[in-house]
Amino acid sequence: TLDPEAMFKQGFLETVYNERPVKPVVTRFPPEPNGYLHIGHAKAIAVNFGFAKFHGGECNLRFDDTNPEAEEQQYFDSIEEIVGWLGFVPARITYSSDNFGKLYELGEKLITLDKGYVCHCNDEEIKLQRGGEKGTSPRFRCKHAEQTVDENLAKFRDMRDGKYKPREAFLRMKQDIEDGNPQMWDLAAYRVKDEPHHRTGTTWKIYPTYDFTHCLCDSFEGITHSLCTTEFIQSRVSYEWLNKTLGVYEPMQREYGRLSLSGTVLSKRKLKTLVEKGYVRGWDDPRLYTLIAVRRRGIPPGAILEFINELGVTTNRTIIQIARFEQSVRRYLERTVPRLMLVLDPVPVVIEDADELDGTDINVPFSPKNAAMGDHKIKFTKTVYIDRSDFRETDSKDYFRLAPGKTVGLLQVPWPIKATSFTKDETTGQVTEVRAVFDRETKKPKTYIQWVGGEGSGSRTVEVRIHNQLFKSEDPGAAEGGFLNDINPDSEVIYPNAKIEVGFDEVKKRAPWPEAAGEDKLGKGGPESVRFQAMRVAYFAMDSDSTDDKIVLNRIVSLKEDSGK
Ligand code: ATP
Ligand code: MG
Ligand code: MG
Repeated sequence: TLDPEAMFKQGFLETVYNERPVKPVVTRFPPEPNGYLHIGHAKAIAVNFGFAKFHGGECNLRFDDTNPEAEEQQYFDSIEEIVGWLGFVPARITYSSDNFGKLYELGEKLITLDKGYVCHCNDEEIKLQRGGEKGTSPRFRCKHAEQTVDENLAKFRDMRDGKYKPREAFLRMKQDIEDGNPQMWDLAAYRVKDEPHHRTGTTWKIYPTYDFTHCLCDSFEGITHSLCTTEFIQSRVSYEWLNKTLGVYEPMQREYGRLSLSGTVLSKRKLKTLVEKGYVRGWDDPRLYTLIAVRRRGIPPGAILEFINELGVTTNRTIIQIARFEQSVRRYLERTVPRLMLVLDPVPVVIEDADELDGTDINVPFSPKNAAMGDHKIKFTKTVYIDRSDFRETDSKDYFRLAPGKTVGLLQVPWPIKATSFTKDETTGQVTEVRAVFDRETKKPKTYIQWVGGEGSGSRTVEVRIHNQLFKSEDPGAAEGGFLNDINPDSEVIYPNAKIEVGFDEVKKRAPWPEAAGEDKLGKGGPESVRFQAMRVAYFAMDSDSTDDKIVLNRIVSLKEDSGK
């Protein structure tokens, strides 16, 4: 079993805390609201919110919304919702854009300290100043760095007042071009952008860069430990430089490794292509690894957090195969969801000598391992449905399910059945009905199969969607002809006429099932929190396409790794 606090008690995160063992701890999760969060972000959420929680502190959800081009309201909403779904409550929700006024003042202060200047160079010139194409020629500062404080102030105000077009002028930090770290080579602090901002409209003509904004917003919020991913290691010097130069409170930035999944794509651009070209049902298609997709598929938030805990946090980048993620989800579901019987491709079996048992109730536990989940009643009927794959027209010695003359057990039913005959549809060649009798001699059949009651048993027809991996290879991004060439044509298999037993109604009514795991909640009570194990088939959850009349089920994961079902 897993210590859910292991990642905070030892290793990287403990070291980070010990470097600055203050109370209260204040952290932040700072997404840019320009897309849906993915599984990698779940690690960032767990690290930031978890770290604060572990040390009795607070974590803010900060929308890093300084780029007017890409940000949309639906992303703000979805991010907030998903953080809540994962079980975290932000101490406060903040917006970098709420600080535009303060940030502008600090831009002026930087100039006043002679640590900032307005530059008019183009990309080509800047590249040359930074050592040229190969970065090997001598670095130098442009003439704009020699402007007086007053000239810079006047120009910066002109930028603010819309007197420059985009790219005609930008504010630069006056750092240290002799430093070996490119993050010290006079970074951009403010740019002119002629775009309305989602929250501030047309108030601003200039927008602060990430390098200027992030460390200052951390400072404003009193962030004690600013945890980010290792691409920002180089940025640590500029982060520290700016706060120190401006004389504001200095948070401490430390970096952990990103989490990636192989065998799928997470980049916004690629996901957008999949959605727009209709390869998937939307951004929340269960075959994707956005968090809204993972949720729709039925993966419980607790399983995601447990998976991240299992991996732990270090400075290494972690690349995980989907199979490993699924193994972790499977272990979680095994302990936490009730069991039911479902057949994907039903064939009726008429049990000829079952007249006196027709309509009798059988009491079935929801879990053989966890009595706390309780029992429910299913109705045995003279005609039951079994899965097409559990019947064979001709028997063989190494086959242990139903065939003419062969005996098989029906889960929960006292006596096994033996097939006597079957009928076929001449045109399709498919078996349409099997006839059978009870086999009262055989006490212990080799195999038990699942079944669903017929008419009057309360069972119902449902649509089942089996999801396989969306891509054929482990590295779709590197596939010949691009990632679209790597799409698995069988990534979604639909069973339109599956049948589920009557117990589903109770599972649905009682969902989510916190009693199973001893947790607060397995989900937030959306359709996807109706989860169960279909015995001998897979784990399933209800899809958001479901209506009162038509239930749609998603396979969450198979019962075993590579079981094909
Ligand atoms: P992407 O380009 O995938 O959206 P990003 O870094 O631009 O990634 P943001 O929305 O800016 O994403 O990220 C919010 C926070 O989540 C940042 O602190 C970022 O470091 C972290 N984060 C993003 N991707 C991952 C990942 N794969 N693993 C761990 N943390 C991540
Ligand atoms: Mg992003
Ligand atoms: Mg980003």
